[in-house]
Amino acid sequence: MKTLLESNIKRVLERINKAAERSGRNFKDILLVAVTKNVPPEVIRKAYEYGLRNFGENRAQELRKKYEELKDLGITWHFIGRIQTNKVRYFVPICEYVHSVWREEEVAEISKRAGRIGKIQRVLVEVNVFGEETKAGLKPEEVEDFLKKCEKYENVFFEGLMTMAPYVENPEEVRWGFRKLRELRDYLMKRYFKNAGIKELSMGMSNDFEVAVEEGATMVRIGTAIFRR
Ligand SMILES: *Cc1c(COP(=O)(O)O)cnc(C)c1O
Repeated sequence: MKTLLESNIKRVLERINKAAERSGRNFKDILLVAVTKNVPPEVIRKAYEYGLRNFGENRAQELRKKYEELKDLGITWHFIGRIQTNKVRYFVPICEYVHSVWREEEVAEISKRAGRIGKIQRVLVEVNVFGEETKAGLKPEEVEDFLKKCEKYENVFFEGLMTMAPYVENPEEVRWGFRKLRELRDYLMKRYFKNAGIKELSMGMSNDFEVAVEEGATMVRIGTAIFRR
């Protein structure tokens, strides 16, 4: 018999696939990052057994704990939460991607810590496209200058952009924001930066990932739709 977790995963993958088809995209170009905040390691292990490989955490210490417990698996970890500079040293050695970078001091610290272990850290710039006062991220019009300013940090590489939409009943209401992030990506992709190749679009969560995929998401960050019980 299928467990709920297994059928949730299957269902989410099917929905990503359908959304990709609707918009003439290839399913393979969309990476599912399973968000594991408040999910215990043994459940993450199950999700891995069901085929997931990319997992995202939004707290540095929790990430480190789970990393230690699940070291025997080939997990690709993503840090997706607010960055505290004094915690950067916890996630840099572990993470393939950091999705939520938007302050220069964070970039400086990430680059320093990555340099110490001989790593180039892949990062995404968090953009507050929806203009919410309380949300993290740069304004869209600030991103280009930010990238220029950050060219001096040699141990980071800017792979793309990330955003978080507000929760709305009908995800169609946030489509414009995802489109705006894609347009910004398309613009920045044609600019030259020493340490950036802006191609990834990390957008879409449980409530709105299909709309995000239709608008070009290359990474979706999904928690509840996978791990709900
Ligand atoms: C929690 C979280 C998600 C996943 O949200 P769900 O609605 O549970 O899918 C995605 N991105 C970030 C940054 C998060 O903190």
